[in-house]
Amino acid sequence: MVFTVPSSNPVNLSQIRPAIRQLQSQLVEWRRNLHQRPELGFQEQLTAAFIAQKLTEWQIPHQTGVAKTGIVATIKSDPKGTRMRNRPGKVLAIRADMDALPIQEANQVPYRSLHDGKMHACGHDGHVAIALGTAYYLAQHSADWQGTVKIIFQPAEESPGGAKPMIAEGVLHNPDVEAILGLHLWNNLPLGTVGVRSGALMAAVECFRCTIFGKGGHGAMPEQTVDSIVVGSQIVNALQTIVSRNVNPLDAAVLTVGEFHAGTALNVIADTAKISGTVRYFNPSLENKIADRLEAIIAGICQSQGAEYELDYWQLYPPVINDRAIAELVSSVATKVVETPFGVVPTCQTMGGEDMSFFLQEVPGCYFFLGAANPEKGLAYPHHHPRFDFDETALGMGVEIFVRCVEKFLHHN
Ligand SMILES: [Zn+2]
Ligand SMILES: [Zn+2]
Repeated sequence: MVFTVPSSNPVNLSQIRPAIRQLQSQLVEWRRNLHQRPELGFQEQLTAAFIAQKLTEWQIPHQTGVAKTGIVATIKSDPKGTRMRNRPGKVLAIRADMDALPIQEANQVPYRSLHDGKMHACGHDGHVAIALGTAYYLAQHSADWQGTVKIIFQPAEESPGGAKPMIAEGVLHNPDVEAILGLHLWNNLPLGTVGVRSGALMAAVECFRCTIFGKGGHGAMPEQTVDSIVVGSQIVNALQTIVSRNVNPLDAAVLTVGEFHAGTALNVIADTAKISGTVRYFNPSLENKIADRLEAIIAGICQSQGAEYELDYWQLYPPVINDRAIAELVSSVATKVVETPFGVVPTCQTMGGEDMSFFLQEVPGCYFFLGAANPEKGLAYPHHHPRFDFDETALGMGVEIFVRCVEKFLHHN
């Protein structure tokens, strides 16, 4: 993923409506408040209390304690104020993740994390602020649109995943959600750009851990042993042929061995070796193909060398796949909001993963990236970096895009 967008990309905020521009200082305040109190997955009690307090203040009905710390707010349009008052209206959901990471913040900013060893280093504090701003605006202007908007505040995106338990608890029903939107503030794109495309945006995430059982012994007497390091090395090499030889070259996929642990001394042949890694791909038809090839290679090499193995392979998140029509809607809205020569970028795929994908498996929708880097202000560190921070100008842009999508989607029949 390489973008050659100049850092001095001019950002024109003239399309952000005055009521949302007036919210900007509030959005920043909420974001900084959340940034100071980061919480890990399924421990987002302070975050949830903050969200619930705002929703209560604004008289927006909401349910707390969904999948432990999640919240679902339901905003209905004012039936007296709409042009289509006799129609039932559509139901659109907006999802924001709310968890932080186990990282010690290295930024020296007034709003730096007060929680030792925890940090909003992915921008989810901004996602919550944007979702709150959207909820506030829609509730305040409920006569200007038609239908129902559910705002889903989701815990534990980073791990172990809060989308699936929220779906299991019925957040997409009562009333039934017809489409879902979500965004990620994105430092891989400069402020003033939006990354959106139909089809696959982010990759499936699968993981494996394998233990190879050889037979240890003296480093000078290999004939008495089965060297788990030699077996493991062959496996690591052979696994590279899955992407290069078994996957269609037009389908992107990655297999990374991230860990290889074996041995205790230089003159001892290691009894066991542990290998673990991650697999990424976009095309859902690869779901079992890579896993099957991986096990066949491990089994074949172990068998040929007289070793044994234990393999754990699990599918963490499916690929994030956007609906064509809804991606086009988001793209057309974003083009208007982000009035720059580089505004909407369709070449924004990443092999990173996201559990937004579980929502998108249930209902059509669109997940998109909102450019938030500003190298001139020193706000360009990558996500999950201890110095990650983003340009807060993006917060108001996020609200404007969501509000315009709500208006356009719910009025579109
Ligand atoms: Zn992250
Ligand atoms: Zn994230």
